[in-house]
Amino acid sequence: MSSDHIVGIDLGTTNSLVAYMQGDVPAVIPGEDGLNLVPSVVALDENNQMIVGNAARKYLIETSDRAVYSIKRLMGRGMEDIQEELKLFPFRLADDLLSGEVLRIRIGERTYTPPEISALILRQLKRNAERFFGGPVTKAVITVPAYFNDAQRQATKDAGRIAGLDVLRLVNEPTAASLAYGLDRRKNGVVAVYDLGGGTFDISILKLHDGIFEVVATNGDTHLGGDDIDNLLIAIALDDIRGDLGLDVRRNGEAVQRIRKSVIEAKIALSSEPSAKLDVDLPGGKKYQREITREMFEQLIQPVVDRTIGPTKQALKDAGLKPGQVDEVVLVGGSTRIPKVRQLVQELFGRAPHTGMNPDEVVALGAAVQANILGGGSAITKEMLLLDVTPLSLGIEVAGGVTDKIILRNSTIPASATQYYTTQVDGQTSVAIHVLQGERELARDCRSLARFDLKGVPPMVAGMPRIEVRFLIDANGILHVSAREQRSGKEAEIEVQPSYGLTDEQVEHMLLESYDFAEEDFRQRQVIEARREADTILAALSKGKQSPAWQELSSEERAKTEELERALLAAKDGDDYAAIRKAIDALNAGTMHLAELMMDTAVSAALKGKAMDGAEADLPEGEGAQAGHPVAKAEFK
Ligand code: ADP
Ligand code: MG
Repeated sequence: MSSDHIVGIDLGTTNSLVAYMQGDVPAVIPGEDGLNLVPSVVALDENNQMIVGNAARKYLIETSDRAVYSIKRLMGRGMEDIQEELKLFPFRLADDLLSGEVLRIRIGERTYTPPEISALILRQLKRNAERFFGGPVTKAVITVPAYFNDAQRQATKDAGRIAGLDVLRLVNEPTAASLAYGLDRRKNGVVAVYDLGGGTFDISILKLHDGIFEVVATNGDTHLGGDDIDNLLIAIALDDIRGDLGLDVRRNGEAVQRIRKSVIEAKIALSSEPSAKLDVDLPGGKKYQREITREMFEQLIQPVVDRTIGPTKQALKDAGLKPGQVDEVVLVGGSTRIPKVRQLVQELFGRAPHTGMNPDEVVALGAAVQANILGGGSAITKEMLLLDVTPLSLGIEVAGGVTDKIILRNSTIPASATQYYTTQVDGQTSVAIHVLQGERELARDCRSLARFDLKGVPPMVAGMPRIEVRFLIDANGILHVSAREQRSGKEAEIEVQPSYGLTDEQVEHMLLESYDFAEEDFRQRQVIEARREADTILAALSKGKQSPAWQELSSEERAKTEELERALLAAKDGDDYAAIRKAIDALNAGTMHLAELMMDTAVSAALKGKAMDGAEADLPEGEGAQAGHPVAKAEFK
């Protein structure tokens, strides 16, 4: 077999799969154990080896602090995004995380970023494919939920790179599923893809124009799936165990994982049987058993199932369609095996969904079809053009903290749009571009994707500069932003990095170091970051020393502050993270009074009718001194 196969990968929350094109038919590549699904679980075994999949799953039960599952929930996310997950999942975050830093998860003695953990899963799939083909596999198409934002997509690409895969394309999961069913062979029509997996719900409405796919609307819930059903069953079991056996095992991680395993087995059985048994060995030799009937199960999960109705209706509304106008309905995700779910889908659309393929394999199969197209493809698929949409609006913050949308949600991608802005203040030489994602009016209610400054704008009267901001979403759904002041031709040096994405250097670093992230490397990074923080504080202090407030301090206070300043300057040149940290904290504490006096001065100046900007005029000239958000100007549009 040729060694340059491009594989299709479904990197799932719960399960991951790799598939390829066997002639004109996509097929899943099984693992060494003969199973198609690789559980998205990573664990550290007794020999401190990282293992993945079914072999790793038993560590969830025995030593859950050495295993991680559902890592997809943390991909490209920041601390404030994941509070729900932290309540529901036993993720152990590194305890030395700096604010704004990429999350790191502790497994055993070491910490890993979510892309690194996902990369371990991807490596396993890569190995499975290489064993199958008997040669190297370096190119892949990877699927992502339609709802994934820019940072999450970027994190997925990073994971691919860390795993040594050239990610040719990221494809929305529902688009892949439609391809797997070959629905493109229909000339025209509307397809709805209903995907209820382990951790995410996605509903997508696709239109076919002369055999060409276009996703016209997407909606969903990134916190809805089979895991929620499992949690409901676990809650019942915990209640029973407390009531009937007098045992409170809620905080016993091992017992809870055993219960989880048992309820999942029961849930799966209930998709084809009228009843199923829960059977769990508990600490102290006790045993918990109970029967669950289909009827009781359906009652229990009704609220979960019903939560898919709203997003489904919204997606139809966004597409401007009535349920009756949908021609084909595709089921995706293991949870759509549940009869109650199928019944709801049938009711929602008034037609029977496609169920011919395994709902938990169909995305990977479609990814293989897409991979084949990119690789030059078969005659059947060569002509096909795939279009996706961006799930959320993208824009920038303008004066007053308002969101100005540049690319609207549900725009077909690749997409690009340009808007013109101007400055807010006379002589403004720097314009802050704050890239936002979301539907809300105020910037603070949207998700912050990136910030950068367009600097070196020649001073002009406010309203004179003409700033062109261009947004481009490429075929992978990744956003590129550029800004240019047209009168002066000044362009920004722009690197749009998603807020919680890894920097190129970080990915490069991980590639080089692979998984042997030495203690030393980490320490070095901490030192560099601490030095940067020290520079910021020292710069602020030297400004402070030029302000009138400095003279208001007692001579002892001034001497003490300068002593702390010297201490930080000395520590900063060393390699001792703890020492730098300590000196930063000491200087921070020691300059509290100065900061208060400076505030008072600024406030009283403002009260006397002087502009606060006037105080700034005393400060050393710096381009950043007059950065402000741009103002949208209709006449430029
Ligand atoms: P993901 O896309 O999130 O990785 P999958 O599509 O693999 O998820 O679906 C996994 C979910 O499907 C899990 O919650 C699993 O328990 C559930 N599942 C798998 N088979 C069945 C079944 N026969 N009945 C009910 N739920 C199932
Ligand atoms: Mg899935």
